[in-house]
Amino acid sequence: MNGDRWRERARAIAEELIVPVANRIDREHSIPPEIVRRMAGEGLFGLAIPKEFGGSAASARDIAAVVEEISFGSLSVATDLAVHLSVASAPIAQWGTPEQKQRWLPAMARGEWLGAFALTEPGAGSDAQHLTTRYSSSPEGFRIDGAKTFITNGGQARVVLVFATRDPGLEARGISCFLVEHGTPGFTVARTLEKLGLMGSETTELHFEDCRVDRTSLLGPEGQGFRIAMSSLEGGRIGISASSLGVARAALKVLRESVRTDSEEWARAALARAHVEVEAAGALVERAATQKDAGVDYGLAASAAKLFASQAAFRVASKALELVLQGNADENARATAKRLFRDSRVLAIVEGATEIQELILGRRLASPPRAD
Ligand SMILES: Cc1cc2nc3c(=O)[nH]c(=O)nc-3n(C[C@H](O)[C@H](O)[C@H](O)COP(=O)(O)OP(=O)(O)OC[C@H]3O[C@@H](n4cnc5c(N)ncnc54)[C@H](O)[C@@H]3O)c2cc1C
Repeated sequence: MNGDRWRERARAIAEELIVPVANRIDREHSIPPEIVRRMAGEGLFGLAIPKEFGGSAASARDIAAVVEEISFGSLSVATDLAVHLSVASAPIAQWGTPEQKQRWLPAMARGEWLGAFALTEPGAGSDAQHLTTRYSSSPEGFRIDGAKTFITNGGQARVVLVFATRDPGLEARGISCFLVEHGTPGFTVARTLEKLGLMGSETTELHFEDCRVDRTSLLGPEGQGFRIAMSSLEGGRIGISASSLGVARAALKVLRESVRTDSEEWARAALARAHVEVEAAGALVERAATQKDAGVDYGLAASAAKLFASQAAFRVASKALELVLQGNADENARATAKRLFRDSRVLAIVEGATEIQELILGRRLASPPRAD
């Protein structure tokens, strides 16, 4: 699909179906099935999947545009979609064997099977190379034991990318990635976590106890799991930046509706700052996605976009909340401002917290320029 048609499709879904119920999704902690059906019908779940497996192999720019528009409607809806796209279907498409792709991708492209990504553990978040979920191998396959936490789509996903180590002493070199199907004995969804925001997106804790998978479950070469995780998260950062942009735009809209020409000078100045934050975040997202599409190293641009856009979303949403709660806005506008404020906080945490983006950027910027 050419031009901005993916963006237009996503915007139509957001405007018609998501925006009207976004506060209800937040209140009731669930996404109406007709939204998921419409997104599936329009091909959104197949954006990161090659055409031969039923997807549309969309560009990074188009995927970012879709994630931004859906996030404008509801960050909860966008998060479930973005995880499925960036860190579940994209790594299977990139690292899977022809058999793995044939097995998983067509149903994932149709939106019938959701994907999840299970890296984080109770004792290993930012420091993912020190994860402790263990695996051992035998001629029949692998046995996985351990626990994962904060897993988006964990309860609904048909396939979960599970990262485990054969020996924690090996750090990154010991980690492999497994495609674990929902219902595999020994794999349980232990609980759904309570959160401050993102109420419509289910976040779960997963347990693996004597969980046996066959040899075809290994994604990529053994010992390359950390590389798969890091490269997936790099792509995922463009998704989180795009989500941040969508949330920031939604908060800017709330601000615009509460600041008028006769508002006080300081309120109009706040609106001006929010406008510039959204414009700057948009430029950074565009730059990162364009670099990914050009096939050049986009890591620096993705981290810069994630660092700035996630904080911009929080700042704009904070200001929108302050102004709306102080004014005469109706109940729906107040609920929207509260939701955007609570939702925006998570953007600076997921797929590499702010401090981690600073470490990545600092390390890269401080290293000598490459000769090429
Ligand atoms: C709603 C939600 C959904 C999520 N979905 C998924 C998912 O689908 N799959 C998945 O695998 N994970 C998921 N996560 C986990 C997320 O990626 C982690 O929360 C994140 O990586 C941070 O890890 P942590 O929570 O353990 O915090 P920690 O790593 O303990 O960090 C806590 C704080 O300390 C700071 N910090 C840590 N190390 C350093 C350092 N070296 N220098 C300076 N500051 C530091 C961090 O920046 C942060 O501010 C999700 C989290 C949330 C909240």
